[in-house]
Amino acid sequence: MSPEIAQPGDALIVVDVQNDFLPGGTLAVPRGDEVIAPLNAYLRQFEQRHLPVFVTRDWHPPQHCSFREQGGPWPPHCIAGTPGAEFARGLRVPAGAHVVSKATGARADAYSGFQGTDLAAQLRGLGVTRVVVGGLATDYCVRATVLDALAAGFGAVVLSDAVRAVELRPGDASQALADMKAQGAQIAGRAAASLSSSA
Ligand SMILES: [Zn+2]
Repeated sequence: MSPEIAQPGDALIVVDVQNDFLPGGTLAVPRGDEVIAPLNAYLRQFEQRHLPVFVTRDWHPPQHCSFREQGGPWPPHCIAGTPGAEFARGLRVPAGAHVVSKATGARADAYSGFQGTDLAAQLRGLGVTRVVVGGLATDYCVRATVLDALAAGFGAVVLSDAVRAVELRPGDASQALADMKAQGAQIAGRAAASLSSSA
């Protein structure tokens, strides 16, 4: 069982749980598929309490600046309209979820769901004061989304049992969690106790 997190004023943000970021995808996050089951439990929790749910996605044009052929750091991934850009099949995205597409233009990348989108305005419009964040990847888009949420004045909770990291360098995941915590994020979820005792 995932812990009870959802409170009035909360929104759940599911970050980039797309096929290309899962094992078998072009930019697979190791064990990225392990976020799906806990996220489904959190999605159910938010739905049952009639709290808003946002799902972000990379939604790139074919010549996106983050791709290696254009001089970027990553292999091509999440090209808009392709199967790789679809949400993971097992992810139970509720019918009323708000989909946030990011880095949709060729010349700018966006790790954060807030960057170049109206996410902050949508959250404020719904009276959201705290965001609860899970998804992929801990050390990139989850980190950036959480830090932007805090900078925009929202509270933020990181679901440690529903995130996985790229870890290009060993330690990137724990560093990302430490960065988010240092800026005021709460680390929650089933693995939180062991994470905080080792930090
Ligand atoms: Zn991308």
